[in-house]
Amino acid sequence: MIIVLRPDATEEQIQHLVDIIGEKGLRAHISRGTERTIIGCIGDESKLQDIPFLAIPGVESAMPILEPYKLASKSFRPEKTRINMRGVEIGGDEVIVVAGPCSVEPNDTLFQTAHAVREAGAKILRGGAFKPRTSPYDFCGLGEEGLRMLDEARQATGLPIVTEVMDTREVELVYRYADAFQIGARNAQNFNLLREVGKYDKPVFLKRGMSMTIKELLMSAEYVISQGNPNVILVERGIRTFETATRNTLDIAAVAVLHEKTHLPVFVDPSHAAGDWRYVTKLACAAVACGADGLMVEVHPNPERAFSDGAQSLKFTKFAKLMEAIRPIAQAVGRWVAEGAKS
Ligand code: PEP
Ligand code: MN
Repeated sequence: MIIVLRPDATEEQIQHLVDIIGEKGLRAHISRGTERTIIGCIGDESKLQDIPFLAIPGVESAMPILEPYKLASKSFRPEKTRINMRGVEIGGDEVIVVAGPCSVEPNDTLFQTAHAVREAGAKILRGGAFKPRTSPYDFCGLGEEGLRMLDEARQATGLPIVTEVMDTREVELVYRYADAFQIGARNAQNFNLLREVGKYDKPVFLKRGMSMTIKELLMSAEYVISQGNPNVILVERGIRTFETATRNTLDIAAVAVLHEKTHLPVFVDPSHAAGDWRYVTKLACAAVACGADGLMVEVHPNPERAFSDGAQSLKFTKFAKLMEAIRPIAQAVGRWVAEGAKS
């Protein structure tokens, strides 16, 4: 159930509604928009059936939310969510590019890449310290040492950092270093992990699981938001289909559908979708044309020597070209992409 309040509703009237909802065992989630305040009722809606909401002072309308996700739905919050990540605004008119190597490696890859992507116009640095690898014998990341290197790269470039957290036991540790959590495709339905990052106040980049429907992705976002953290960024990174020419199939329609259904920012990761650097720029262009709020791109100075995902990583010059390619497209759809910062 969502309750839309009259523009002149008083704080006492809002509190009265919160109390009534609480008495029925549900939680009231208040969203104060620029024009309207909306109360979302979280819990068993059938318990509210007998409450004559329209007769309660301050209420303009009350309607059930038909989708299983509530806090993530557009009916709950009609205006787009804007998220501040260490001074970078996500979800506004600027298309935000997150870039960096797949893994933080025990060499200077991260530092070189951080400077290069910043100079090309990226606003956020990525790099995995905890890597979910299909084989346990593959490089699984540097752990805390990788987080320390991310911190140094942030200090050197000023770029905020996002890195994956794989385990509830490591959330606290990652929180201490990172400016945002990344929940990977393989953990996108790890509900305990989603709940855990939902208790923190840093943004969460939530990748779409490789066999998750759009509705399931929104339910995963709901897990995070329902714990008190509204700063979720959805990331379409390709899903598994019968097609084998690319690593995954980029579901570009998901961008359009998600913007219809949710107020959360929607990013596209063309690197994991393509699995091949040759396709990354074209998919990035398609994503921006379709209205993506940002991109997440893997970049490496020497992809042949990358510890993970070299095949899909762009060299610095190719990444700079990607940035040039998306600028006019962003403009054509009423958005913009930052110019590179000179070092
Ligand atoms: C990654 O970003 O390096 C990664 C592992 O992505 P995904 O979870 O989308 O596979
Ligand atoms: Mn990767």
